[in-house]
Amino acid sequence: MESLTEIRETKIIYDELLFDYLDILKTKYKLTNGHNCSHTERFFYQLWEDTDTFIQNTYGLKSNHADKFSLIVALLSDYRSFDKWEDVINDDWTFYDFPNAHGGRCCCNHRIHNAYVMKNTNTGMSVIVGSECVKSRMITNTALQTKREAAVKRANKRRRVEKAEAEEMSQQDDVMRVTLFEAMSYPHAKVNWGRWRGTEITA
Ligand SMILES: [Zn+2]
Repeated sequence: MESLTEIRETKIIYDELLFDYLDILKTKYKLTNGHNCSHTERFFYQLWEDTDTFIQNTYGLKSNHADKFSLIVALLSDYRSFDKWEDVINDDWTFYDFPNAHGGRCCCNHRIHNAYVMKNTNTGMSVIVGSECVKSRMITNTALQTKREAAVKRANKRRRVEKAEAEEMSQQDDVMRVTLFEAMSYPHAKVNWGRWRGTEITA
């Protein structure tokens, strides 16, 4: 598996050729400021193919996750106002967790367990990302890293609560199964129906 590298290590050169290509993508996929790229997975499969072709044609090389991530980060920002990858990374980005979104893919086509959203504050454009990709590839943006850590902490806490609730529900199911067994096996036995709190079954 590919290790997570910084955006600065992409093979894409931050130049006019890239900007022209990003202009084409914005027209092709009708991307304007405020666009939320999060839920259009089909769009991403096409975009990744386009990126493969761009990198092959421009540099004669195969593209990897780092290239795809970098390209999308540039696409989401006001790319012509910057001179280098470093400036794009250090642009104003925000990061938040995406409740109820589990699994899927990061914008770099990297499989993820937990989905997060990264948004460029200047363009208002956002995208689904994995927290590890942002951690490694946007490493120099310390403000973003602080937001990422807080969002991951919040999400982990929420998942712990959800898990505990699910476990409690399954324990209640066990109690119900035992009580049903008692009722069937010993029809005259006094069954503790009170243990079925919260259910609609009555004695
Ligand atoms: Zn990724």
